[in-house]
Amino acid sequence: MNNSYWILSSEKKKSYEDLNSDISTDYLIVGGGIAGLTTAYLLAKENKEVTIVEADEIGFGASGRNTGKVTSQHGLIYSTIEKEYSSEKARLYYDANEEGLKLIESIIKENNIDCNFKIVPSFVYTEEEKYIKDIKKEYKICKELNIPCEYMNSIEGIPLSIKGALCFKNQGQFNPKKYVDALGIINQKMGVKIYENTPVVDVDIDEECLVKCGNNNAIRAKNLILASCNAWYDGLRLFFAKEEASRSYLLCGELKNKISQGNYISVEMPTRTFRTCKDDKGRELLIAGGYDHKTGKCNNECHNVKAIEDFAKGAFHLKDKDIIANWSTQDYVSLDNIPYIGRINNEKNNVYIITGTSKWGLSNSSVGAILIKDLITKNHSKYEELYNPSRLKSYLNMKFLETNIEVALDYIKGKFISGSSELPGKDEGKVVSINGKRYGAYRDKNDNLYILDITCTHLGCELRFNSGEKTWDCPCHGSRFSYKGEVINGPALRPLKAYDKGKNKIDPKIL
Ligand SMILES: Cc1cc2nc3c(=O)[nH]c(=O)nc-3n(C[C@H](O)[C@H](O)[C@H](O)COP(=O)(O)OP(=O)(O)OC[C@H]3O[C@@H](n4cnc5c(N)ncnc54)[C@H](O)[C@@H]3O)c2cc1C
Repeated sequence: MNNSYWILSSEKKKSYEDLNSDISTDYLIVGGGIAGLTTAYLLAKENKEVTIVEADEIGFGASGRNTGKVTSQHGLIYSTIEKEYSSEKARLYYDANEEGLKLIESIIKENNIDCNFKIVPSFVYTEEEKYIKDIKKEYKICKELNIPCEYMNSIEGIPLSIKGALCFKNQGQFNPKKYVDALGIINQKMGVKIYENTPVVDVDIDEECLVKCGNNNAIRAKNLILASCNAWYDGLRLFFAKEEASRSYLLCGELKNKISQGNYISVEMPTRTFRTCKDDKGRELLIAGGYDHKTGKCNNECHNVKAIEDFAKGAFHLKDKDIIANWSTQDYVSLDNIPYIGRINNEKNNVYIITGTSKWGLSNSSVGAILIKDLITKNHSKYEELYNPSRLKSYLNMKFLETNIEVALDYIKGKFISGSSELPGKDEGKVVSINGKRYGAYRDKNDNLYILDITCTHLGCELRFNSGEKTWDCPCHGSRFSYKGEVINGPALRPLKAYDKGKNKIDPKIL
């Protein structure tokens, strides 16, 4: 598990060098996913000097592992925003995401990008009577906002017993990895410098930003744009407390019976999301997923993989032999489902952020690129207030309280878990106690034992072993580490220390 169909089916056409000297730049973008690459593209078009650093490879984060739906239909988002804020804000969110969709479409056309982009309808549906009223409410609000849409009692060509659905026509879908790979190449041609395998591990922000990278090189940047999916630098805005890391599971399998093309997502939980695509051999494929949970809250992720397989087998008659790829990935969900995009705070005019993309970051990251480009070139954006990372309601709501009480409980609970006196067996991971101190231990299939300090290097929560993916995951803020201790997902920046190398340094980069 864990290579997405998009990664497997996108022949990587280019690698970028690691950073191996100290450099300076006008605009430093941290993160080579759709958010970072689109922002770089728009800034390079304005003749700005831009550098991107990527901890891993371009498109290996959420951008290369999602469902590839480019749409302004995000579940029941319009009734949510209308209720929480106003109908004006709900309409503005629609306009923003339609502009994001159009930007993607125009970049593809202008640059002749081969990424299987298609115009399709998007549907939010239910198979249960009790959710019909929620879809009808979303429909009513969309109509009041003059959003083109249609309510349907059934959907033709789908083997599910649909009880109600809302359809947005003229939405998009593509192979997201092919798109971001192409954006990397185009950016480089426009003069953007790109470095892979270059994780940022520290930052010092003043009038200029001094950014330290994992391989001991420093970057002096006049402006810093955090496009790392999560907020590893906080600017005192408490992002770690107002976004939640959520993991989901996807599979790709060969369909024997064709279904109607479209983007589909259920209202009921666990969420089920699906679409189709064709591979190079002309085979009809299903991409299906869902079964989200908060990172660190599921200690055997194999159950979720099986749940998706059962859905694909039950509804679409896939057999084991039809399944081509299984993978999982995570995104960071804001407390009001609107991403945090803009200047990180009012004091630091040269630090920008795109985070909290809430599982709809393909259109929303493109909005983020437009918004940040406008702030830089015009000092304002029509979307500035809607996405404001410091908006009051992101703190003053019940969810903020509930989320952080749960985090506090997980923090305390973790400190009371005592380790086993026995080391793990082969392919097993567990918390152990050695000389009265707690460690995390994993023994691989070849009998190599890895013992780590498992106190998270972000804010000090105790990590939990994820036996499905052989990782140590943080239930508090979603950081993930390999069994060797390397950072896989932030907000943590520093790796875990091995047994006998001392204690982990906790460094939340709040200031
Ligand atoms: C299962 C699932 C399905 C989804 N499906 C859809 C969909 O159909 N449509 C949609 O619109 N959205 C979807 N999303 C959401 C979407 O994938 C994300 O919102 C989007 O990809 C975020 O883009 P990004 O560039 O911000 O993040 P990423 O693609 O994760 O890029 C961030 C990059 O930053 C790098 N990085 C992180 N920390 C550092 C550091 N310290 N130094 C250097 N580099 C660093 C990472 O390695 C990574 O490559 C889905 C999400 C999930 C989880």
